[in-house]
Amino acid sequence: MRDKAISKIFEEASSEGRNFLFEHEAKSLCSLYGLPITRFVVSKTEEEAVDAAREIGFPVVLKIVSPQVLHKSDAGGVLIDIGNEDRVRAGYNRILENVRANVPDAEITGILVQEMAPSSTEVIVGSTKDPTFGPTIMFGLGGIFVEILRDVAFRLAPITQADAEEMIREIRSYKILEGARGMPRADQEAIAEILLNTSRMLVECPEIKELDMNPVLVYEKGAKIVDARIILD
Ligand code: ADP
Ligand code: MG
Repeated sequence: MRDKAISKIFEEASSEGRNFLFEHEAKSLCSLYGLPITRFVVSKTEEEAVDAAREIGFPVVLKIVSPQVLHKSDAGGVLIDIGNEDRVRAGYNRILENVRANVPDAEITGILVQEMAPSSTEVIVGSTKDPTFGPTIMFGLGGIFVEILRDVAFRLAPITQADAEEMIREIRSYKILEGARGMPRADQEAIAEILLNTSRMLVECPEIKELDMNPVLVYEKGAKIVDARIILD
């Protein structure tokens, strides 16, 4: 049986007529499946944003929350590495100005304040639904590796631990995860765990039509999902 908290996330989105989850909703869902996410608070005022940043700890990242803004940075809706309270205040207002200029009809739900994850190797975990076979799960390295080289591994969900390990090793850019070119070795056990928990989430949540965790930062120990987008069926 699925946790009630899971259904509640989908019900809230559909009651508001949205066919997607906000990033913070997608991350709450991920967290219910044991996936590692950045800590966050949704703020509705400059003051709340400052309190949230203090609680989370500097530096923080600020992001727009709006039903009309799915691709946040395209709208000027993401500011990273905000190091102090004055910058939170300035950033809060800057994002509102950017979004009002770029998407004039945008309703503003709030500003998401979140933990800033240190930069590291970036990977992507995603999913689309095959009309016949159901949810697929995709894994690749971030940036050019997926966008230009299309270097990705695909499976149908559910996957096993062995499938997850195979997916990681079969991409052509695998050597980068092993620590080539001065990159630190990436925690492959942490990636495999993300793939398995994502698979479980996809199988238990038929509401998910598309999933895009992009990027996921992978460290020598552990990983952090810094953005998660979910489109609903
Ligand atoms: P978009 O909706 O445009 O995809 P993202 O949430 O992915 O917005 O943010 C854009 C970029 O900002 C990310 O690709 C990542 O490089 C950086 N970023 C976002 N959130 C964080 C975070 N919490 N920690 C570190 N970097 C982040
Ligand atoms: Mg993103």
